[in-house]
Amino acid sequence: MTDTIKANSVVALDYTLRNDGGKVLDTSDGAEPLHYLHGHGNIVPGLEQALTGRKNGESIDVVVPPEEGYGAHDPNGVLEVPRDRMPEDLDLQPGVILGMESPDGHTMPVTVVEVGDEKVKLDANHELAGQTLHFSVTIREIREASAEELSHGHVHGPGGHHH
Ligand code: ZN
Repeated sequence: MTDTIKANSVVALDYTLRNDGGKVLDTSDGAEPLHYLHGHGNIVPGLEQALTGRKNGESIDVVVPPEEGYGAHDPNGVLEVPRDRMPEDLDLQPGVILGMESPDGHTMPVTVVEVGDEKVKLDANHELAGQTLHFSVTIREIREASAEELSHGHVHGPGGHHH
């Protein structure tokens, strides 16, 4: 039985993530708690660090600056594409996330920022890049990771990977 979060703990969290304005961006409310493997970069560094040494049942509020969250917003990630080069059947609205093929053949998510008559402005940054993240979390469970989970670097079973 472990009751303190340390490297290689499997942790279950109830969480709510808000932005600077207090708007809820993501929450486990009404769903399963988030399960992650502590010390393996499964969650943003600022939150992971704040959870080290915490005990089961604790509730904490953590403010994570962009550089310990999803990184600063990179202006080089913003691109303009001529509108006639975009597939016609796309629903082009600001805020819509599209899958775009990168030169090496991977699909990367890009957010539509602006839709003009001639050009469409897209942003390949993570949608939370440049944002200060306000987490409210409650620790629901702490257990030791299995050898298999450690070798994979993530949690298996309920709340984790199934494969
Ligand atoms: Zn696995």
